[in-house]
This record gives sequence, structure tokens and C-alpha cells, in this order.
Amino acid sequence: MRVGIPRALGYYNYYPFWFGFFEALGIETVLSDPTTKQMISAGSALVVSETCLPVKVFVGHILNLLDKGVTTVYVPSIQSIDHKIYNCSKIRGLPDLIRNVIKKDFLLIEPTLDKSQKDQGFYEYLKESVEPLGITDIEKIKDASKKGWEYQNNFNLMMRAGVEFSQAIKIAVQGQVKIPTEQKTAPLKVAIVAHGYNLYDHQVSMRAIQKLKKMDIDAFTANMLTKEQMDEGFKTLETQVYWANELEMTGAAGYYMNDDSIDGVITITAFGCGPDSIMVERISRFSKKLQKPILNLTVDEHTGEAGFITRLEAFCDMLTRKKRTEAAKKAKEAKENPVKEKRSFKIKVEI
Ligand code: SF4
Repeated sequence: MRVGIPRALGYYNYYPFWFGFFEALGIETVLSDPTTKQMISAGSALVVSETCLPVKVFVGHILNLLDKGVTTVYVPSIQSIDHKIYNCSKIRGLPDLIRNVIKKDFLLIEPTLDKSQKDQGFYEYLKESVEPLGITDIEKIKDASKKGWEYQNNFNLMMRAGVEFSQAIKIAVQGQVKIPTEQKTAPLKVAIVAHGYNLYDHQVSMRAIQKLKKMDIDAFTANMLTKEQMDEGFKTLETQVYWANELEMTGAAGYYMNDDSIDGVITITAFGCGPDSIMVERISRFSKKLQKPILNLTVDEHTGEAGFITRLEAFCDMLTRKKRTEAAKKAKEAKENPVKEKRSFKIKVEI
């Protein structure tokens, strides 16, 4: 048995779990190829132009799987991941969209996870994930989910420690955890606030993290934070969670904007995303209040790499200059301070 998994959207959050779960039930997972321009064009051609870029990318990945001869494709409808915390309508309606735009003959596995509904919890979702493949034994399904969690926890641990995304996935699904003991730190530190499917897809993010690394800048992401730290970030931005992936945007932005060791924040959002436009507006407002420099980058299928990189470089140049100026100011103050201290000491003696 083979199940095709598109290397898009949920892949960037849940793939280690899906891999372990299916593997434990004797089901092989087949991934679509890494995103290319052609895949984005093919996906964009099938949906209305207002659709956000990640969904266009997702459609392109389904087409890629079908081209590879995969006949069963896994497209869950993840409605809510916690009580009254919902995904956007595009993620919730993903199976309907795929069924309507791709008129080809294939089996679509479309389980629903809705933690806001009593009868659509995690085990119902897992059951629906394998029922179409003839697996109905709930004990076997529960057992398989343990393997999924093991791989997912491996992945989460490595991401928190700053391991590169594709390395973390590769090692996690081998049932291992490898965390480098010594890590060099760069002089400039930047937080990148974006959904995993925008940030870790090299074609969509234009390898932003790698580009920063080349400029000798450390990039910090939402995956490096604990849930408690992101909740703290939420309080900083004086808001409440409603959208499922708001934590990785607003929570992370709030946390990093309050962190003095972070020199600036870069947001990467997709054109056509409703929730992101609201979140970025709030993040930008608070960046002024907290005096943290911010760069908002929006990507769509027409975004050119040259313009994207120019903005990234200009922002980082500004951060470097700002840091140098602040360091010079501090050095000047430190030079002046010993004199002041000396004077106050004298006064103390006289008293
Ligand atoms: S959250 Fe935004 S970018 Fe993500 S799928 Fe929904 S509309 Fe698209």
C-alpha cells in the first residue's frame, strides 16, 4: 500500500507523525518532489487567482504525485487543532478544493480533525486516515500513532535546538535525534516570522534562512520556541488565539520583539492570506511600540528573487549600521562614566 503526501502545507508541521503512523501500519508514504516554478504554475492554473500562494503550491504538488503514478493521495481537512482554535477556510476545505479542481482518477483520503467537535477528535481522524485502505482495527491504529508521536517528538526536539529543517525531518523519521553540541553564534540575530510551509519551502522563501546565514546572521524561528514562550509573545501583543497557526506568527513575533538579543524581525507572508494580513498589521504596530526594526516581505507566484534578496540585504545592512552606532554610543558612555563615578566617590568621602 502506498499513500502520496504532498510536500506542502501540513507536511511542514506533521510529516514525521504521518510517516511514523503509516509506516507502523505497513503503508509506504511517497512524497512529491521539492517545489519548482513549474509546479507553482501548474497549481496556479487550476485555481482562481485570489487563492493564496501556499494553496496553489499544494495543488501543484498533488499534480506532481499523480504524474509520478501515485493513485492514493492524503489530504486531511484539519478544521481545528484545539477547542475553538480554527484553521483558515482554505486549509479546512482543502479536500473539497482538490476534488473540484483536479479532475483525474485517484483515491483521495480526506480525514477530518476537528477538536471543537466531540465526535471528530484525534482517533476518529486517524481511523478515517486508514479506513479507505481497509484498516479498521482501532487498537492497531492507536499503537501506530505511538510511532508517529515518537518521530514527531524527535523532529520537534531538533527544530527547537536549531537543526536545519530538512536535516531534522530526515533524522527524525529514522527514529533518531541528533543535536550539534557546539554552535557558533553570529554577531547579528534576526527572527523570521512565517508559517513553516512558507519558510522551509526553498522555492517560496527563496532560501531566506540560508541567505541570512551567508551574510553571517543567525535566524531564529517559531520552531525554536516552547508553547509557553509563544503564549508569552501573545500577551506582549495583547491578543488572543483564534487562528490555528497564529502561534507561529503572532506568538513568535511577540516573543522575539521583547527579546533584547534579537536585532530585528522579518515576516514572510503569502499574498492573498486573510489571517496573515491581520496578524502582520498587529505585529507591525507593536514593532513601533517596542522599537524593534521590522521588514515585511510578501510572496506570490510572481515574486522575483532579485527584489526579494535586495530588500533582505538592505534591511540587514541597516541592522548592522544600527548595531555599530549603538555599540559606539555605549563605548563613548563607558568612557565617560568612570570620570562620573570618580566624582561621586569623592563626594561620598567628603560627606
Ligand atoms: S493561513 Fe493564509 S497562507 Fe495559509 S493556507 Fe490559509 S490563507 Fe493560505
